[in-house]
Amino acid sequence: MRIYNSLSRQVEEFVPLFAPKIGMYTCGPTVYRYAHIGNFRTYILGDLLLRVMRANGYDINYVMNITDVGHLTGDNLGDADAGDDRMEEAAKKERRSAYDVAKFYTQQFLADFDRLNLIRPTVMPKATEHISEQITLIQKLETNGFVYRTSDGMYFDTAKWPRYGELSTLGEIQAGARVEVNRQKKNPKDFALWKFSPAVGRREMEWDSPWGIGFPGWHIECSAMSMKYLGESFDVHLGAEDLRSTHHPNEIAQSEAATRKPFVKYWVHGAFLLVDGGRMSKSLGNNYAVTDLAEKGFSPMGLRYLYLTVHYRSQQNFTWSALAAAETAWDKLNGFVQEVKSKKQEARSQLSREKLRKLDGYRKRFEQAINDDLQFPQGLAVMWEMLKSNIPDYDKADTLLDWDQILGLKLGISDEVPVPQEVREMAAQREELRRKGKFVEADEVRVKMEKLGWKVEDTIIGAKIKKLIGRG
Ligand code: AMP
Ligand code: ZN
Repeated sequence: MRIYNSLSRQVEEFVPLFAPKIGMYTCGPTVYRYAHIGNFRTYILGDLLLRVMRANGYDINYVMNITDVGHLTGDNLGDADAGDDRMEEAAKKERRSAYDVAKFYTQQFLADFDRLNLIRPTVMPKATEHISEQITLIQKLETNGFVYRTSDGMYFDTAKWPRYGELSTLGEIQAGARVEVNRQKKNPKDFALWKFSPAVGRREMEWDSPWGIGFPGWHIECSAMSMKYLGESFDVHLGAEDLRSTHHPNEIAQSEAATRKPFVKYWVHGAFLLVDGGRMSKSLGNNYAVTDLAEKGFSPMGLRYLYLTVHYRSQQNFTWSALAAAETAWDKLNGFVQEVKSKKQEARSQLSREKLRKLDGYRKRFEQAINDDLQFPQGLAVMWEMLKSNIPDYDKADTLLDWDQILGLKLGISDEVPVPQEVREMAAQREELRRKGKFVEADEVRVKMEKLGWKVEDTIIGAKIKKLIGRG
């Protein structure tokens, strides 16, 4: 298989350090709020890579951290050690302890993770449970001469690490772009390893250290925990493109300066998800969570399908109509597999040589696509081509189920019941009647549908059909 490596800026042949074992790390969520569908585009990328590596016979030790301290309100593009702690800020706003906030949003995160059928990582270490590992790592850096003190914390001296920033183009590093920088920093690119608690007032999350009471910087947790669970050198590190400029260069610098060994072989970065062509943000109210989509009647599998339609290195634009189209496509696939499964197993005729060769061709092309830097849009194109071919339904469904080990679309096993053709037609008829202003007749159709166990919900993108709870 081949994958784009941000270090070399090229698609490279994937050669693990210790095949067939692979160590992989994804920068996980900061658990001060609900994760949004942009975050999940990145976690899906991790899941797809994991599934493709598995399909290639590798055995993956997959680590994803939970950031529950130290991620400050300065943005990820160089200001991450300025501002307030996101956890403590959320705790104040929600009037509960920072630990309760972390626990609550971690649970919500895992529920969404399962809804989207993401394979759970082998370990999900928390920053607050690895304070001593972080302190030990900073001590190593201090022994090696990379650490200096300012009034608000201990900093990494990037000038002493000549290879600093090899992952990002230096112009991208925007230290101090948004908030006041610490003027005692020797260089704007230097970053906090340990921050001191404020002189007045106490933090809820703080620990003793050789340098004074405080808390770890945001970057150090990823180095400490990835190396604890995966070793000082490992294969894959993944995150979204914003982390390529600062967080990941910082991880590399502090890890390699401590161990004097190469930290990670392949750096994989996913492009951002946009909403209606722009950035997602709380102030615009478009930072949708997975459950927001469910409330509008969409299935998480529709969202999962939507992510597959755009290559991970291109930005993807989320719109409600794109989601509706993705869900229709998923419905079709799922309905097809369920239909084939429900048919009595007829005595299967042997596939003719010609059809066998054809099917083999589709399988090869699908594999080639996904093994070539995760070209899932191409894989989907091969899939639809296969479905339109003259191969018998049974073999089509069989092939789809094999591919679904990698797509993760829960085909044929989703607990969502496919909508029967008859009910779909009734819904279309009702729409048509409503368009013509015949609301009484439209309502009669609705009542008929409900008798059959289905309801229609009018959403912002049109009517959606849902199974009535408690009906067989
Ligand atoms: P955070 O919880 O803010 O630390 O972000 C968690 C992960 O989601 C990080 O890898 C971010 O880079 C990534 N991320 C944030 N916003 C987006 C977005 N709009 N699209 C894709 N990934 C994102
Ligand atoms: Zn990280």
